[in-house]
Amino acid sequence: QNQPHAVLVTGSTSGIGLAIAHCFGRAGHHVMLHGLADAETASMLLDEFSGYSGGAGFSSADIASEAGCAQLVEETREAIGNPSVLINNAGIQFTAPAHEFPADKWQQILAINLSSAFFLSRDLLPAMRAASWGRIINIASVHGLVASEHKAAYCAAKHGLIGLTKVVALENADAGITANAICPGWVETPLIQPQIEKIAREQQVDLDAARALLVGAKQPLAKTTNPEAIAELALYLCGNFAGTITGAALPVDGGWSAQ
Ligand code: NAD
Repeated sequence: QNQPHAVLVTGSTSGIGLAIAHCFGRAGHHVMLHGLADAETASMLLDEFSGYSGGAGFSSADIASEAGCAQLVEETREAIGNPSVLINNAGIQFTAPAHEFPADKWQQILAINLSSAFFLSRDLLPAMRAASWGRIINIASVHGLVASEHKAAYCAAKHGLIGLTKVVALENADAGITANAICPGWVETPLIQPQIEKIAREQQVDLDAARALLVGAKQPLAKTTNPEAIAELALYLCGNFAGTITGAALPVDGGWSAQ
């Protein structure tokens, strides 16, 4: 479809989500920005989008609850109309061994990284079905395909997100709607900084050396992925040639999950 779509990108005040939002904005789509940002940051972000031909809106709804997801849907419809593209990207990380994992962190990761994608998909699918066109893209992770130690909640949520993606793909294959997961390896964003800093502290090395150790431990192709690369793949999934890609979990991980 070549006409502009209304695109909701959760967690788009930073990192991968912000790159996705800019990519869709540059392509002329209407973009709903979203994330935990104050009014000043929000207005700076909206300024960045004022040069694009499509409209833009912003919501700071906390999507750790069903009510927060409902608020985001309402604010999105008010700002840019009913989204035909939903990109579930918001996510957080916390690392600890399973036998020491704090219950509140477990609940929070499941709520933000998994349940929000369910609530938003559930609430936006009826209008996509009525329009006979829609795209749902879930930013999962290589940790939706394989495990690493100390990431019980994150791996559980991301494996669950890929399961949800497949179910939504099957249920809506008759309605012109595709649902896919993108599974990045290491992407240079604020989310991975605490892990880089931890290695620097523990191994007494500088941040560049720590980053190289982090990436090289998992990825045969030991380079971080540019957030823009994830964004271009998301845009491709909404384009004319991706109409039969559905229910897929697409790794962008330097060979991590090939092992
Ligand atoms: P980031 O920390 O840069 O951005 C996270 C975004 O989510 C921010 O906009 C933040 O405001 C928003 N957010 C967090 N909690 C929220 C809440 N309760 N309510 C509303 N918004 C909330 O992270 P990122 O690295 O860009 O990650 C984006 C997605 O990509 C996440 O789902 C993450 O798991 C996934 N991912 C990242 C990497 C990586 O290496 N960075 C790798 C694989 C997958």
